[in-house]
Amino acid sequence: MTYSNPLYDDVTYLKGVGPKRAKQLKAYGIDTIYELINNIPRKYLDRTNIKKISNTKIGEQAVIIGKVVSKNIKMIGKRRLFQVTISDGTGELQCIWFNGLSWIMEKFKIDDEIAVYGKLEFYNGLKITHPDFDILSQSENHNTGQIISQYSSTSELKSKGLDSRGFRKLIKNIILNDKYIIDDFLPSDLLSQEKLISLDQALNQIHFPKTNDDIKNALYRLKFNEHFFIQLLMALKRNNQKNNIGHSYQKRGQYLKNIYESLNFQLTNAQIRVLREIRADLKSKEVMNRLIQGDVGSGKTIVAVLTAAIVMSEEKQVALMAPTEILAEQHYESIKEYCEKVHITCGLITSNIPQKEKNIILNELKSGEIQFIIGTHSLIQEPVKFNDLGLIIIDEQHRFGVEHRKLLIEKGNSPQVLSMTATPIPRTLSITIHGDMDISIIDELPKNRLPIKTSLIYPDKIESTYEFMKQEMISGRQCFVVYPLIDESEKLDLEAAKSGYEKLKLIFNDFKVGYINGKMNKDEIDSQMIKMNNGEINCLVATTVIEVGINIPNATVIMVENAERFGMTQLHQLRGRIGRGSKQSYCFFIQRKKTPNADKRLKIMTSTLDGFIISDEDLKMRGPGDFFGTKQHGFIKSKVVDFSNDGPIIRRARQQAFEMVIKDPKLNLNKNKKIKQVFKRKYHHMLEFIKIG
Ligand code: ADP
Ligand code: MG
Repeated sequence: MTYSNPLYDDVTYLKGVGPKRAKQLKAYGIDTIYELINNIPRKYLDRTNIKKISNTKIGEQAVIIGKVVSKNIKMIGKRRLFQVTISDGTGELQCIWFNGLSWIMEKFKIDDEIAVYGKLEFYNGLKITHPDFDILSQSENHNTGQIISQYSSTSELKSKGLDSRGFRKLIKNIILNDKYIIDDFLPSDLLSQEKLISLDQALNQIHFPKTNDDIKNALYRLKFNEHFFIQLLMALKRNNQKNNIGHSYQKRGQYLKNIYESLNFQLTNAQIRVLREIRADLKSKEVMNRLIQGDVGSGKTIVAVLTAAIVMSEEKQVALMAPTEILAEQHYESIKEYCEKVHITCGLITSNIPQKEKNIILNELKSGEIQFIIGTHSLIQEPVKFNDLGLIIIDEQHRFGVEHRKLLIEKGNSPQVLSMTATPIPRTLSITIHGDMDISIIDELPKNRLPIKTSLIYPDKIESTYEFMKQEMISGRQCFVVYPLIDESEKLDLEAAKSGYEKLKLIFNDFKVGYINGKMNKDEIDSQMIKMNNGEINCLVATTVIEVGINIPNATVIMVENAERFGMTQLHQLRGRIGRGSKQSYCFFIQRKKTPNADKRLKIMTSTLDGFIISDEDLKMRGPGDFFGTKQHGFIKSKVVDFSNDGPIIRRARQQAFEMVIKDPKLNLNKNKKIKQVFKRKYHHMLEFIKIG
């Protein structure tokens, strides 16, 4: 027999909800009674700040309670206004209305006790213009002295009575009805350790708070719930891997020594620290699952190559998977250079490689002759087989889904996993999204770099910027000019980029100007890229296809057209295409439209080169949804979650979730049974990766 809680019933079953109302609620996205009670208020009206007139401050929002002493209509110039004067024994206050006069006038009677709410002004006496009011002597059902929850709604729903008042009424029905049991899933020891209020109390208080502390405590509890389950997911995923025993690498090996000695630069302290962390992972028998987070140009590739060297010394193979062909090819070029010197055999697999050649590579991979394979998604296709795959490296890991990783991992026998990302993200988000991995941060750029100089340019200054670019090109440097290209306005964007290219060809008529856009076929893009790489093009005009991928140390200028249309993270990535050599580089953001938001973004972009600061600001301004696009992050949907402010809650939730999984890896203890139930309902699509039974 299964016990069913009526809380999960359809909203139709709720008292006060007929078929029509149910339909409206469903159209709004609320199907069950449970969802209705979890529809959290958008904001609150605070009617608790009751003040005596003699005790008020000009400019504050306050509630004043007093008796009506007079009411009259006045003329100010040509405007008619209605004025009610109230007194509370300590002084007098005028309430003013400019329109809708007749019905307001009807409402008040001399000697009525009323409460008014609004901002206090002083002009010929103390005033509130258009106050909210309750006539206390006429009705008991008023809001004075209360905090009133406000819900988002649509104007259509409001017109049908589903406004804040409507929501409050329905939710009150749930809370007052004893048959709806709000069962707490967190065990009581956890509640008391974290000083959390019960779920029942939290939901009651979030809708019907008596004080501001009620709201605070309720919100804390509800946020904790969300973060706790996310962290529990991470803890379980991580635990699942911990049982994953792999090869343990005790020695550094000859390859590492040889590659290291062949380098013509010194590793940065950050690179050395990260390598040490990786070494410890490889030594232990648990399989490594580490993410290297490092800004563009911070030198992640060499760290990956040195890791690969350790693995290859024990006669195992390494696969590096990159999200685009260009990126794969460039990795191949630079990795080959490191590897050939020490006689390691490398290969490249992308969809560009002709079948005949591919077959040879596939054979050599299978036999183990190729030690280090670099490729795109092609690597996860069926025919790719390894002799003994010991390490997989995933570049720009957020561009791949979990299933891609899984497919590649399955080609080896518990291979080590090293992921890399150039998208610096705030710590709170990082432990949320990458919470199942160990994280290493490269927070230092190689010493030979000069900081990029960034300027914000308005259209009237653009001619002198072109002159500057000409000078750079005369001294042999190369430039990028980037145009936006987004799906919604693709056609217009392509036209703008094309005509920009035509114009620049004229302006830079002494130079070779190339053009690529995101809609061209790969061969066309590649041939232009190769020309840029070889220095046969002085200036490359492009839509965002150069966003990730290329490393051209001789490129010293990037001009971003309509910079106001890009997100900060994107601008940061674009800027990272230059400043990769030892020469001074320059970034010009051309702003063609001014909005407060764009101004703010671009101001931040010109004031810092630090990817972590930029990502923090980006998160604050855009929220996590936009921050990542879609892919693997669909699990952060809750309205109460706010990553830029929830840091302390996230850390508490993480600690509790990880401790719980250490003590009870399959959540089978009696006290954790309910958590397991909720978890399975929430993350049913992830259960194949987690295996908790
Ligand atoms: P990213 O982290 O963006 O992937 P790369 O690994 O492509 O950066 O490195 C960018 C450039 O910096 C490469 O040309 C690389 O050879 C060089 N590089 C890496 N580490 C150092 C270092 N410690 N000192 C000087 N140059 C370095
Ligand atoms: Mg890279």
